[in-house]
Amino acid sequence: MSFDDLGLGPDLLRAVADAGYEQPTPIQEQAIPKILQGRDIIGVAQTGTGKTAGFTLPMIEMLGKGRARARMPRSLILEPTRELAAQVSENFTVYGKYHKLSMALLIGGVSFSEQDQALTRGVDVLIATPGRLIDQFERGKILLADIKILVVDEADRMLDMGFIPDVERIIKLLPRTRQTLMFSATMPAEIRRLADTYLTLPSQIAVAPSATPAENVIQRLVPVPGDFRRKREALRKLLALEDVNNAIIFCNRKRDVSTLARSLERHGFDCAALHGDMAQSLRTETLERFKNNEIKLLVASDVAARGLDVVGMSHVFNFDVPMTADDYVHRIGRTGRAGREGRSFTLATPADTKYVAAIERLIGSPIERLEIEGRRHSPVS
Ligand code: AMP
Repeated sequence: MSFDDLGLGPDLLRAVADAGYEQPTPIQEQAIPKILQGRDIIGVAQTGTGKTAGFTLPMIEMLGKGRARARMPRSLILEPTRELAAQVSENFTVYGKYHKLSMALLIGGVSFSEQDQALTRGVDVLIATPGRLIDQFERGKILLADIKILVVDEADRMLDMGFIPDVERIIKLLPRTRQTLMFSATMPAEIRRLADTYLTLPSQIAVAPSATPAENVIQRLVPVPGDFRRKREALRKLLALEDVNNAIIFCNRKRDVSTLARSLERHGFDCAALHGDMAQSLRTETLERFKNNEIKLLVASDVAARGLDVVGMSHVFNFDVPMTADDYVHRIGRTGRAGREGRSFTLATPADTKYVAAIERLIGSPIERLEIEGRRHSPVS
């Protein structure tokens, strides 16, 4: 199928061609025509599947008709993290380049005054994290009575982060007659309940079993002794063996993020830390430098790296085995994007056995073991 068959107008097709996309991804193929018909959607899809364009493209098409009124945004996109919100807004800029849509971004740590001016003039698209939106609503800065399209993105992440009560509060402030699009990598019972309560006759679209890591990601489990120093040694050895272009190294704990980043720096690696306790300006700057290839290795916690979309990331390293199997799938989904091969390595200590077993149950197959003790510089196949 080609983009021409989805019902998008010529301006969008031009923007999509400018972005270099040749054909729609499976979620785009399924979601775009249904969204354009005005249907509610549940999209079970991970990041990396092209789901953002799957909802932003039809939204731009629909919002192209009509105009926003002062303080009354016409559509609302809820995102669990600031980084994801910023990424979605970048998508609107790229795909909406031939449309005159206005947009505001309400996320923590970003000055409100500029966004407030945009809101006062009227915006077509409001992208927000739930807490920040409620905050501004309570101050009387926004009216939600004209929202015609609501997107709840990464709903399972919202759940993990405790945002569902805020999301429900927001939904109750919106007009009943609206189109609702919900995306989630997994469908836990609470998310199913949310969909049943707030969506009208939704069409469910699933692009891959949610627990299936992308096929083009090579996965290896590296047994290591359970001490921090030996784990760091093992990681350095892997970094030497592998031809790393750029990588995220995940830690389970924030304090380990900083310690590991400092240790890697001391050993001459080009790296930076990213975790939720850092000032927003520093987080944004670090992300930009990573995206621009000025930093090769990013040591991060799950929350900080949620949904990070860095094109062509060659590797993901799990310095710690994640404690939930879903997080494993999310983490390794950072690599192997858009058809490229990605490589992921997970350091596993004896204490991680039960977490590894849960991951292997979820993904439905054992992860190949890789012994690196005593290995020198021959590449890992
Ligand atoms: P997402 O799943 O929305 O995070 O998108 C993952 C990546 O795929 C982003 O870098 C997009 O720019 C890219 N992408 C989205 N749609 C397409 C497409 N149809 N063809 C090629 N790349 C795409």
